[in-house]
Order: sequence, then structure tokens, then C-alpha cells
Amino acid sequence: MSPRCKVAIVMGKSDEGGEPHRQQSMVVVPLEIPGVIVQRSTSVFGYDDSGHGGHAEIVYRNVRVPRENLLGELHGGFAVAQARLGPGRIHHAMRLIGMAERAFELMCQRSLVRFPFGRAIAEQGVFRDWVADARIRIEQVRLLVLKTAWLMDTVGNRGAATEISAIKVAAPAMATWVIDHAIQVHGGMGFSQDTPLAEMYEQARMLRIADGPDEVHKMALARREINRFRVAPTT
Ligand SMILES: Cc1cc2nc3c(=O)[nH]c(=O)nc-3n(C[C@H](O)[C@H](O)[C@H](O)COP(=O)(O)OP(=O)(O)OC[C@H]3O[C@@H](n4cnc5c(N)ncnc54)[C@H](O)[C@@H]3O)c2cc1C
Repeated sequence: MSPRCKVAIVMGKSDEGGEPHRQQSMVVVPLEIPGVIVQRSTSVFGYDDSGHGGHAEIVYRNVRVPRENLLGELHGGFAVAQARLGPGRIHHAMRLIGMAERAFELMCQRSLVRFPFGRAIAEQGVFRDWVADARIRIEQVRLLVLKTAWLMDTVGNRGAATEISAIKVAAPAMATWVIDHAIQVHGGMGFSQDTPLAEMYEQARMLRIADGPDEVHKMALARREINRFRVAPTT
């Protein structure tokens, strides 16, 4: 939806009968050509996301582009998507660690200056339990993300596939948990625009879906793990 956006990358089926990973192609489609109809901007978790460019519902009606607009190989769209998604997912995970750290900081600061019923939130046992849990969860994910980055550098994205799926599930779950508790500590203020927490929660929650839902990453991870234990048939 950004006015700076001039082209769309459209991924569609180009060979319905091909191997599952060789059925799709990507084409570059200029937005100003006839038949490209930007229907509307969709909100994200109730927020107008135009600050990040926004997300559009687009109809392509009899749109034609020259053959050279094909991105990469014909029927090779899945490989192009995977090449971009591996590095993209680790960036999401790193940003989620940053978000969780920021929420953690706000939560601790607030706990020291707010005295509901005459006692600092920081002095409440339940709050200390959240602080300990939050720190443990953040550090667990940080180490898993570091391991994933190291594998991507040393054995490549394919060799790090299990860990990339793992962080794509673990990082949004961790950040959502930490931000949720930071909102709780802030009470009503946590829902308002006076802290970045509500928007951070939306971002973290959204990342349990965008770039592949949790269930799909777990399915791929589990498949790879089970395959490690399959015994080759003896002849
Ligand atoms: C804010 C936002 C930004 C996005 N940006 C982009 C973008 O830039 N580029 C892009 O290409 N896409 C983008 N997406 C799309 C995103 O990748 C898809 O929404 C996501 O992959 C899920 O696909 P879907 O919406 O079709 O859900 P579906 O495929 O219909 O899945 C719905 C639900 O079904 C369940 N499910 C699906 N498969 C399985 C399974 N195998 N096993 C068990 N349960 C399953 C899961 O619970 C899942 O959440 C964006 C989405 C959002 C919300």
C-alpha cells in the first residue's frame, strides 16, 4: 500500500501436475498495468499497518506481463520463496528478542514506581516469578537463535532447516508471553498508546502466522526428526 511500491511479486501455480515443490512460479507485475486492481488495505490485528507499508487485497484481472518478468526459473517459485524466507525468519526471531527485552525493561521499571494497595509491584512474589520466567525464556530463545545463525553460516540454510523452524515457533511464543506479562504489569496503561506494548503484542502474535503458521513449522520439523529414525529397507 506504500505509494513507493511500484511492482508486485506474484506467486501462482504454473504447473498443477508437477512435483509439489515445482508447481509454482513468480512473476514481477507492475502495479500500473491494466487489470491490477488494489481493492483495499487490510488492518492487522485491528491496527492500521500503513506505517509499515500496509497490506493490500489485490485482484489481477486478465493481467499479462512479458516473459522476461519471470523471477528465476519457470516452476522454480518455491525455491525462490525458501531462499528468502530462511534468512527472513532469523531476522524476525532477532527482532522478537529485541521486543521482548524492551517489554522486560518496561515491566521492571513500572514495577518499581507503581504501588497498588501501598506495595510496589516489584515486591510481589507473583511478579518476581514472572521476571525470572521471562529472563529464562528470553535467554533460551537467544541461545537457540545464536545456534541457528551459526549453523546458517557454517552449513547453510538447508542444514539449519530444523533450527530455523524451531526459532520461528519459539521466538514469537516467547515474545508474546513476555509482552503479555508486561501489559499485565502496566494495567490499563498497557492497552493504551502510552507504551509500545500493545503494538508489540500485535507484531509478536502476528508472527505466529506470517511466514508460516506454528503448526506448519512443527509439522516440517517433526517430519525431519522422524525421518532420521527411519530404517532403510534391507534387500
Ligand atoms: C501481517 C501479515 C503479513 C504478511 N506478509 C506476507 C508477505 O509479505 N508475503 C507473503 O507471501 N505472505 C505474507 N503473509 C501471509 C502469511 O504467510 C500467511 O497468512 C500464512 O502463511 C498462513 O497462510 P494462510 O493465511 O493462507 O492460512 P491457512 O493456510 O489457511 O492456515 C490457517 C491455519 O490452519 C492451520 N494449519 C495450516 N496448515 C496446517 C497443517 N499442515 N497442520 C496443522 N494445522 C495447519 C494453522 O493453525 C493455520 O494458522 C502475511 C500475513 C500476515 C498476517
